[in-house]
Amino acid sequence: MVERAGVGGAPHAADGGVATWQRELKDAFTRADALLDYLDIPLTARAGVLGGTADFPLLVPRGFAALMRPGELADPLLRQVLPLTAELADVAGFGPDPLAEQAARTEAGLLRKYPGRALLVATGGCAVHCRYCFRRHFPYTDGPARGARDGVLAELAAAADVHELILSGGDPLLLDDAALGALFARLAGIAHLKRIRIHTRLPVVLPSRVTPALCRLLEDQPQRTLVVIHANHANELGDAAARGLAALRAAGLPVLNQSVLLAGVNDCVDTLAELSERLFDCGVLPYYLHQLDRVAGAAHFAVADAEARRLAAGLRARLPGYLTPLLVRETPAAPCKLPLL
Ligand SMILES: *Cc1c(COP(=O)(O)O)cnc(C)c1O
Ligand code: SF4
Repeated sequence: MVERAGVGGAPHAADGGVATWQRELKDAFTRADALLDYLDIPLTARAGVLGGTADFPLLVPRGFAALMRPGELADPLLRQVLPLTAELADVAGFGPDPLAEQAARTEAGLLRKYPGRALLVATGGCAVHCRYCFRRHFPYTDGPARGARDGVLAELAAAADVHELILSGGDPLLLDDAALGALFARLAGIAHLKRIRIHTRLPVVLPSRVTPALCRLLEDQPQRTLVVIHANHANELGDAAARGLAALRAAGLPVLNQSVLLAGVNDCVDTLAELSERLFDCGVLPYYLHQLDRVAGAAHFAVADAEARRLAAGLRARLPGYLTPLLVRETPAAPCKLPLL
């Protein structure tokens, strides 16, 4: 299911062929042993590591790996991306489609679960494979796999009650500028669409994707465009990410962050507070802190609701309200993401 950027898409003429971010993506780690060698983790310390998974293989850009602490198997960034044998456990309550998304898909492939908003899976590819991903079993090939599908655009044009389109994936910024530009040009003609929201992890895991050309494209769209990034730990936001986020802000785009509460990664008030502080330093406000979606293979990341509430209360007691994300759970039949209070 991994679609690499550039495959089938026109390369950027302005970049003399292949853009830096596309080269970096091709150069990403795809094998656990190569990543662990790079991090100087000795063979004897690799117990519990899963060599390979055919359906959702390891994928980690080198720049993201460079933010991990060498020699530490428990590094919070490494833990998010390293396949473990724990994934193979069949745990009750964890299934392939925890949000019943297949049932919420319209014929053309839009997800319309919440009033006023529609979500388009713009591409199936990601630049990193997060082991806890709730769409890790998503049948991307069944949907509008890439960019502007006529059926989706026709449905959007007819849906006068949809005021915000969320581009999701996979990662929509893996579409190259030509594909993204073509999609945006068609969205520009839909008058009832007021906002375009981009859900992307690329400014964090592949910051070179935030080029001046991309910023211009987003800035020039007649609809208000905002970006929601995904970072779970302050260490994910290195200097390159900070520069890209500053560029998005300089283009006038609001930038928010959503994170997932993950055991062994950020299930600690200090860690969550550091993340909020670092986000703010990068011009980003926290939005949601998600309780883990119960997807098969991710049970080892689960944090109990009582503990999640305790962490959220601890964070609220420490930080200003605008630096405190809302703890939510996504529930298949609910009209919104439900706060855990
Ligand atoms: C999360 C989500 C949204 C957006 O919800 P907000 O509360 O507006 O962030 C919209 N559609 C679907 C299908 C979603 O999963
Ligand atoms: S970047 Fe997002 S969609 Fe892609 S694997 Fe990670 S959580 Fe899933």
